[in-house]
This record gives sequence, C-alpha cells and structure tokens, in this order.
Amino acid sequence: MPDLDSVVREIAEEMAQRPDRGAVADYIPELAHVDPNQFGIAVIDADGRVISGGDSETPFSIQSVSKVFTLTLALGMAGDRLWKRVGREPSGNPFNSIVQLERERGVPRNPFINAGAIAVTDVILSGHEPREALGEILRFMQFLAQDPSITIDERVAASEKRTGFRNTALANYMKSFGVIENPVDYTLGVYFHHCAIAMTCRQLATAGRFLAHNGRNPSTGHNVVSAERARRINAIMLTCGHYDGSGEFAYRVGLPGKSGVGGAILAVAPGKASIAVWSPGLDAAGNSHLGRVALERLTQRMGWSVFGA
Ligand code: GLN
Repeated sequence: MPDLDSVVREIAEEMAQRPDRGAVADYIPELAHVDPNQFGIAVIDADGRVISGGDSETPFSIQSVSKVFTLTLALGMAGDRLWKRVGREPSGNPFNSIVQLERERGVPRNPFINAGAIAVTDVILSGHEPREALGEILRFMQFLAQDPSITIDERVAASEKRTGFRNTALANYMKSFGVIENPVDYTLGVYFHHCAIAMTCRQLATAGRFLAHNGRNPSTGHNVVSAERARRINAIMLTCGHYDGSGEFAYRVGLPGKSGVGGAILAVAPGKASIAVWSPGLDAAGNSHLGRVALERLTQRMGWSVFGA
C-alpha cells in the first residue's frame, strides 16, 4: 500500500505546477477575481488523521458542495416526502439548465442541479423565517466541521443575487407548478447565502466524514444520519454530483463526489477517507479541472475507487 502522506505531497506538488488550470467561473462576478493558480487538498482517514497539501487552509466559496449538506438537512426534516419535490436521476444537462423542468412539470431531476437544490432549500425554509433557516444551515456546517468560525461570504452572496437571473427563472418556473412553497425571493435568498459559505479544504473534509463512515463521525462519535441514509446520499453524489460530467467523474475517479463552481470537490472513499480538493479553474461542465485530476491520481495510487482497484 503506498504511503498516503507521500501520495498527497506529490499530488500537491504536481498540481501547483500544471499549466492546464481550467477557467474560473465568471457568471458570479465576485468569483471571477479568484486567482486560478491555487490548489489545495485535505484527506482525513478513518482514524481522523489529516493529510493536507497546497492551499488547504485558504477559504473558498463552497457553492454547490453546500447542496450535499442541505439535502442531508432536508431529508432529516421531511424524510422520504422530500422525493415528491425532487427526483434522484442524473440530468445529463448543465447544472443551470431549464429545459427539463417543463417536460417534468416543475419537479427537478435531482437535488444537485440548481433547480433541485432550490427546491430542497425551500423545504428547509418552510415554517421558518429566511434568517432562521440560514442560521440552521450555517450551524449544521459549523457542527459538522467542528468549527464555529465558519461564515458566509456576504459579498459572494450579494454578487450572485445581483446576477442570478437564471436561478430566479428556475425558481419562478417551479413556483408556477406549486413546487416552491415560499416567496421566491426568500427561497433564493437562503439558497444564494448557503452557496456563499466559505470553508477550507480541511474544514470541508471534516464536514464530510459522516458520509465516509456510515453516517457517523468516528472521532466525535456523533451519529449524523443512519447508515442507510449516508449510503443513499453517496449514491446520489456518485450519479449526480458532477452534473453532465458525472459519468466522466465516475469513470476517472470512481468515488461519490460533489463539485461547486468555486472549484471545490468533496469526495468520499467509503470506510477509508473524506477528501476535499480545491482549485478554482473549471472544465466545460463547471467542475474543478485540477480537482478532478488530483482525485484521479489519489484514487488510482491508493486503490480507493468504489469500482475496484
Ligand atoms: N450558486 C451557484 C449557482 O446557483 C452554484 C452552482 C454550482 O456550484 N454549480 O449558480
């Protein structure tokens, strides 16, 4: 078995030097300023050992990686009733696509495309004020990452609100089918803010540990969800976590993973490790280019793909 410390060190060295870095997301103006020459990785093994490299302590906008955690919270609130509001099939379309929604009568394909995540946020919001719902999401992230200092980058949230015409269209369209219960502005406000949570690779990998260990953080002993629920969330990450790049991610990396346009990917090696990588340059499907390359290296060297060594 190769030594994890040296594998992570070599990956961080290679990624720091590669010329192919992808392109930063510029449809959210505040993200367009982020320096693409950054790469961070944090791997937390079953014993809680953190092996990190590169810019693993630099905070970034977690964007759609937050959707794993809002899905977890909404399942805790609504249970299987959630699946009336959102499906669990891969979309084969870009993350912000609107075309499928008409054919499917406003019920989004899965909780990780934007429409699906907005519907999930609406479930969390129901019965609460936006501020309370957002507080609940933020506290959940702080609890999972064991770090009360995690905050929301208000500038990113405001930037997305100013330019979020597509998400506004998606939400209004779902509202016309009765899939959104709350005022569209409220639901979108909470959605934009949870996407703007800022975290480091180490914090994100810590937050994801329950998914790698049957719903339980093995270091704190906290049972976050049942083993069955963790397994199912992982299944949705594997099939839908990278939008229309999900097949390619499964082929190359072979782990459940969730990307965000800030350049982060959270990946789960069941029973072995929780992994967060970050590099702001994206590929054509909106997934971190070097993040994916790094995870491909890691799973190949460690034999961690869920499909076999
Ligand atoms: N907040 C982003 C959006 O709604 C999230 C998209 C993403 O990370 N893929 O466009």
